[in-house]
Amino acid sequence: MVTKRTHRLHRSSTQRIVDALRADGEVTRADLAVHTGLSRATVSALVRDLERDGLVTVAASDPAGRRAGRRPEVVRLTRRAGAVLGVDFGHEHVRVAVSDLAGHVLGARSARADVDRGMPDAMGVARRLAEIVAEEAGVDHAELLACGAGVPAPVDRASGRIGSTSLLPSWSGTTLTAALEEALGMPVTVDNDANLGALGEQAAGAARGVDDVIYVKVSSGIGAGLISGGRLIRGSNGIAGEIGHVAVVPNGVPCRCGGRGCLETIASAPAVRRQLLQTTGQDLPGDDLLRALTGGDPRVTRLLTDAGRSLGRVLSTACHLLDPAVIVLGGDPAFASEPVLAGLREELSRHRLPGAGAEVRLAPAQLGHQGQVVGALRLAARSLDGRAPLNFPPTISTAP
Ligand SMILES: [Zn+2]
Repeated sequence: MVTKRTHRLHRSSTQRIVDALRADGEVTRADLAVHTGLSRATVSALVRDLERDGLVTVAASDPAGRRAGRRPEVVRLTRRAGAVLGVDFGHEHVRVAVSDLAGHVLGARSARADVDRGMPDAMGVARRLAEIVAEEAGVDHAELLACGAGVPAPVDRASGRIGSTSLLPSWSGTTLTAALEEALGMPVTVDNDANLGALGEQAAGAARGVDDVIYVKVSSGIGAGLISGGRLIRGSNGIAGEIGHVAVVPNGVPCRCGGRGCLETIASAPAVRRQLLQTTGQDLPGDDLLRALTGGDPRVTRLLTDAGRSLGRVLSTACHLLDPAVIVLGGDPAFASEPVLAGLREELSRHRLPGAGAEVRLAPAQLGHQGQVVGALRLAARSLDGRAPLNFPPTISTAP
C-alpha cells in the first residue's frame, strides 16, 4: 500500500533528481546518486518512472563530451519537462535563444540594438525576438518556465539592480529583473555577461566538465567569470571578476569607470586599436584586428602580445587566488589568437609558484558569440531549483 509518507518521499526524491538534471543538463545515474544522496537502486527506479512519464530520456552521452572511450549512459530531461528562454544584452546587440532543460538549443536570433543608450528599447527588442524564436521553435509561452538574462555590467543579485553607476550608466539603478519579468511574462534571473560566458563554456564549450574555471571576455571592455568548486563566484556586490578595472598603470589613461590606468585602458580591443593608430597611423574599424593579424602585420602581432602580457599579469594574481584548471578566452577572437596566448603564457609562467601542480590550460572559447546566451539558458534552468516540473507525475504507479 502506498502511504501518504511514501508518496511525499517519492515526490521529494523525484524533485531532487529533476533539480540535479536542471543544474547540469545531463547526468549519469551514478552522479545522480552522488548529487542527490539517494541510493543507486532508488535513482534507477525513479529514473525509470520519469522515463515512463516521458519526462527524461536515457542515452549515450554526447560524443563531444570530455570523456574518451566508451560513452557512459546519461539521463536528460525531455522537451515535455518544459523549456527556458535566454537573453544576452551586449552593448550593441540583443541575442535570444530557447532551449529544453537539457540545454539543447531549439532556436536563436539576434538583432542590433543601442543597448547602452536605452533600456526600454532593448527590452522591446528582447520581447519581440523571444516571440519570434519561441514560435519558430514550436514552443508555447506556457511551456517557457523561466528566463536567464545577461548584461555587460555587474548585477546585484539580491535586488536585481545594475551594481555600478559608471558601467552601463543609462541602466543604472533600474530593477532589471522586475522590468524584464513584466516585458517577458515569466520569472527572470539576471547576471553579468562574463559570468554567463563562464557558465556557457562550462556547460557546452571549452571548460566542459571542469569545476575550476576563469572565463575572460575581452572585447570593448574586459571582464571575467569565475567558477570555483563548480560554483560561480559573484561576491557580495556582484562585482567579483571585474578584472578590467584592476589598475595596472599608475596614473595611466582615464577609464570609463572613473579610475586611471585600468587593464581595460591598455588591453581591450579599443585600447589596442588606439595604440595601433598612435604608433602607425593605421585606423582599424570594428572587428578588423583579427584580419590585420591574419594578414601578418607584425605591428599588430606585437601589440597583441603586449596585451596578452598585461592580461597575464592580472590573471597570474587571479590564478594565485583561485587556482583554476583552465582559463577560457572569449569575446573578440583576436584576443584568443597565438600572440595573445604567447604573452599570457609568458607572464603566467614567470609568476607561477614553482612545483605547484599542473600548469593552467589556456583555451579559446568554443561557443563564440553564443557563449553568453547558452549560459543564460543554463542560469534559467538552474533558477527552477525546487520548483515542480511541468507535467509532474500526479500519482505513483510503482509499488512501494
Ligand atoms: Zn576602469
